[in-house]
Amino acid sequence: MTDTVTIALSKGRILKETLPLLKAAGIEPLEDLDASRKLVFDTTLANVRLLIIRATDVPTYVQYGGADLGVTGKDVLMEHGGEGLYEPLDLDIARCRLMTAGPVGVEPPQGRIRVATKFVNLARQYYARQGKQADIIKLYGAMELAPILGLADEIVDIVDTGNTLKANGLEPRELIDHISTRLVANRASFKMKHRLLQPIIEQMGAAVQSGSNA
Ligand code: AMP
Repeated sequence: MTDTVTIALSKGRILKETLPLLKAAGIEPLEDLDASRKLVFDTTLANVRLLIIRATDVPTYVQYGGADLGVTGKDVLMEHGGEGLYEPLDLDIARCRLMTAGPVGVEPPQGRIRVATKFVNLARQYYARQGKQADIIKLYGAMELAPILGLADEIVDIVDTGNTLKANGLEPRELIDHISTRLVANRASFKMKHRLLQPIIEQMGAAVQSGSNA
């Protein structure tokens, strides 16, 4: 399979913004992605196929070589740890912030803090860097409920406009990192398929520079 390229894309909010960048590299799915329940799609480049999977699975597929390239958020990559991956390109889409947040007007406790998040590794590292003792509680969604129901003092979550926090009586506290969508490559593929991957990376990079992702 040294002459084929598999690209893993995150379904959901990132997908729509990724397609124009792929198009700039001559890669367009042959079928309407929304109209199909397929997970693998052929493209206008005969040797390139697309996988449409969950954002959190993209680093894993690329790490183990199930895909040569992948597109997912920096938040997901940081949580995964990034083993076996190169990160050749910031696609500059789906910009947001990874933040701590808590109930409006409430000071975080001085001592041990309870934190609800889906980013357990990231949160553990962040509080350790801050020298704070934290009990991390894993949730898969609706983190905003946790402080309201007394499950946690604080959450670690993605913030874009801040509307979701506000609607749930929460406010942002500390900025952990700025997040955007990244192109990642399997390390072995990056070397062995360099001839195939390099033009894709370059053309997507040029499209980012020229603002095709805006
Ligand atoms: P907002 O209300 O605009 O602050 O959006 C916050 C919610 O939307 C969070 O709960 C996130 O789960 C989700 N969200 C916003 N932007 C992104 C993004 N770029 N990537 C992933 N999730 C996001």
